[in-house]
Amino acid sequence: MDFSELKRLYDQPLFDLISQSRETHLRHWRGEQVQRCSLLSIKTGGCSEDCAYCAQSAHYSTGVEREDLMPVDEIMRAAQRARAQGATRFCMGAAWRGVRDGTPKFEQVLETIREVSQLGMEVCVTLGQIGMREARKLKEAGVTAYNHNIDTSPEFYSEIVTTHTFRDRLNTIAAVQESGISVCCGGIVGLGETPHDRLRMIEVLCNLVPAPESVPINCLMAMPGTPLADQPPIDIFDLVRLVAVTRLAMPKARVRLAAGRTRLSREGQALCFFAGANSIFYGEKLLTAQNPATDADVALLRAIGLSIEPNDRPVAVPT
Ligand code: SAM
Ligand code: SF4
Repeated sequence: MDFSELKRLYDQPLFDLISQSRETHLRHWRGEQVQRCSLLSIKTGGCSEDCAYCAQSAHYSTGVEREDLMPVDEIMRAAQRARAQGATRFCMGAAWRGVRDGTPKFEQVLETIREVSQLGMEVCVTLGQIGMREARKLKEAGVTAYNHNIDTSPEFYSEIVTTHTFRDRLNTIAAVQESGISVCCGGIVGLGETPHDRLRMIEVLCNLVPAPESVPINCLMAMPGTPLADQPPIDIFDLVRLVAVTRLAMPKARVRLAAGRTRLSREGQALCFFAGANSIFYGEKLLTAQNPATDADVALLRAIGLSIEPNDRPVAVPT
């Protein structure tokens, strides 16, 4: 889809838009199952990059303590806990600009992946910039998806990050695609971008070949100490519109409600599920930010009659 088509969809009356996205969603995803993903920060804080939203950047005083890469056995225990709580996808995030093949930290990550991939969950990592060599090794070790968000439009990106470029992000995504690992790529709303930027972001995402398997939509968690600490939350209907357009533009993608759900009401989240979201990040912590309690999430899904993807059989794929 090109920008004008996305804009035409987005500008419709809300109920027309969500009726269309609902229809597309049901056609490709049959039932109503919501996937629960767990996200663990395996290396926290002290990042060289200056992403204006991020509490882990070393450029800002956010109170987030810099920690070393977590030992393999500690990550395994967290992964086992996530599985026991019902996650079918386990994501590991590192606050790095990127990582290089041949370094001890990359070897340690590979060893971790070899272990975690034995647990029968999808294994996703987000380690910053990588090239072909790293991507191939990650795949061999058992990674099923690599997360690398473009976060916003190409035009607005340099307002948010100056230590790397939008093109750098696309280069990593290309290396991941080339290796055969699924791409998880989405963005953040509430950075101060316009609706035009949000649709440009979706335009870039849906024209990736192949389109991402997974699209996380983060609502900014305004972190104290970052330049965006005082950003107001975006209007819920803007978020629902974006979820709906994402579903229409990428019918087969898992559309994930990621960071910022603590700022959304239950009704707002329900509307996002209706519009086409079919995954949540699950667990009390999302990297360094708060996330709804797991009991509250299960209660919400039950209250609206959405079934939860079980973790004792292969995960659902779109048709
Ligand atoms: N360093 C790696 C990178 O930048 O790709 C991986 C970790 S980074 C924390 C992963 C993603 O988390 C970012 O691309 C961004 O979309 C999201 N994120 C980080 N801080 C956030 C915040 N305060 N609010 C919403 N989303 C956030
Ligand atoms: Fe570093 Fe990633 Fe945070 Fe940017 S988003 S500062 S690259 S951890």
